[in-house]
Amino acid sequence: MGNYTIAVLPGDGIGPEVVEQALRVLQVVADRYGHTITTQKALVGLAAIEAEGEAISDATMELCKRSDAILFGAVGGTQHTTGPRSKVSPESALFRLRKELELFANLRPIRTVEALLNTSTIKAEVLRGVDMVVVRELTGGIYFGQPSEIRETEHGTEAIDTLIYSEGEIERIVRMAFELARGRRKHVTSVDKANVLSSSRLWRRVADRVAQEYPDVKLEHLLVDACSMHLIRRPASFDVIVTENMFGDILTDEASMLAGSMGMLPSASLGTRKTAYGTFGFYEPIHGTAPDIAGQEKANPLAAILTLALLLRYSLGLTREAAAIEAAVEAVINAGYRTEDLREEGKAVIGTKEMGRQVVEALARQQG
Ligand code: NAD
Repeated sequence: MGNYTIAVLPGDGIGPEVVEQALRVLQVVADRYGHTITTQKALVGLAAIEAEGEAISDATMELCKRSDAILFGAVGGTQHTTGPRSKVSPESALFRLRKELELFANLRPIRTVEALLNTSTIKAEVLRGVDMVVVRELTGGIYFGQPSEIRETEHGTEAIDTLIYSEGEIERIVRMAFELARGRRKHVTSVDKANVLSSSRLWRRVADRVAQEYPDVKLEHLLVDACSMHLIRRPASFDVIVTENMFGDILTDEASMLAGSMGMLPSASLGTRKTAYGTFGFYEPIHGTAPDIAGQEKANPLAAILTLALLLRYSLGLTREAAAIEAAVEAVINAGYRTEDLREEGKAVIGTKEMGRQVVEALARQQG
């Protein structure tokens, strides 16, 4: 039994719709296991711009910093609401959160569910048993290195980006991957381009050094081009993949296709700060605000509900509770319930709230 505080930032579009269902599930889990979990809601994104004049206010940042974790929906609107004439972008909230909370590690777990194997564009036999976590470095590398500019020279226009990593930045993310692997199948795949890039050669050197402290975990090195191929050829062979920012950006999108729908995928961004029970983190489904279906009861809340499971596991240390939520989601899918994005012949298509209710009921059934 414990006392925990979660900052809840539902955001825009379908964000509030799916977060509401995750909070319903949280209430049931807290009651069942006897935890006191305090949630405090605040505005973010377009909703905050309209009410408070900025994408995330100082007061909301303070709330986040005081909490054990942040549960986030999504931010952003349509071209119409966030066109070139608007001064503040809703996404700037995300950049401020990442920077000020030092969220350096992005985790994307990808697990296939047997009953959904046929909804993917990839063959079921290849997808069966996929259960991996991609750990992407989030605050360094070529997206942040300076100089980064287009400039005029006497030979014409040229452009430069800078890919820079320090040993410390590499070490903390690789270490996180090894720690994760210890609680899983004890296999880390470190992805780089060490045949060409100096930053990758340092990456590999640091990964080898960190690996010596984890003799129980197997380390494999893969070049990024080979990894992109193996992700669709033998995805079930991966356990934990760790890689730098840009490679991770590309590989996580590729890996997400293994799960079929975006409406099923959670993510966590972890920082340097420890909580009393785990690591402080920011948790969001990977999908956006889906303006095309917002307000129509069509959004799949399962990504948000699975996101809550990650929050419980990594920031609150509640692994049993997290596993119970994941099992409940799987049970609902196996029972044939689908939201619009997972529509399948012969299966019952239900709305956002009803899907949330089904998960709550599946949790209650576990109680026996
Ligand atoms: P999106 O993820 O919002 O939607 C892409 C497609 O997937 C749409 O057809 C949508 O209906 C569908 N979809 C997404 N989530 C779903 C769910 N839970 N259930 C059922 N269907 C779902 O991406 P987009 O359309 O490129 O972006 C829309 C807005 O969201 C933009 O303003 C974008 O900037 C923003 N966005 C925000 C985040 C974030 O907050 N982290 C991430 C991505 C996009």
